[in-house]
Amino acid sequence: MEQQIELNEHNKQEYPPMHTTEHILNQTMVRMFGCERSKNAHIERKKSKCDYLLAVPPTDEEIAEIERRVNEVIESNADVYVRYVSKEEAASLVDLSKLPSDASDTVRLVYVGDYDICACIGAHVNNTSEIEGKFEITSHDYDNGRWRMRFKLK
Ligand SMILES: [Zn+2]
Repeated sequence: MEQQIELNEHNKQEYPPMHTTEHILNQTMVRMFGCERSKNAHIERKKSKCDYLLAVPPTDEEIAEIERRVNEVIESNADVYVRYVSKEEAASLVDLSKLPSDASDTVRLVYVGDYDICACIGAHVNNTSEIEGKFEITSHDYDNGRWRMRFKLK
């Protein structure tokens, strides 16, 4: 068996559809705002929360666009799959800054179709068609550079 790497970001017990949605959301935020993936996320079956560091809060139009893009990826029936790669290859594909320095030389990469790649040990769906409901941002607030958003699959 490949050795797996502990990452702080993810908890193995997370509900796979919500957690997979978190991957899609993170990539959407990176693409739209050039920010980092959420380093402070709380993912649960019914509702989840992610924080992003942004210089200004997203507009209503941008929030609607985040929802539209995340739902577009979910509805594209993208395969979610794992590849184990060397740390060197992983470093060329994803941000490994959160990896502990004593981590093994093999990194578990999780792909959401051709949309997202992330080093993660969590549990995911096998295809985004298993994510039931529509992604919806239910509330959000902005404080001192931190945009906190809560979302559901409704
Ligand atoms: Zn994950």
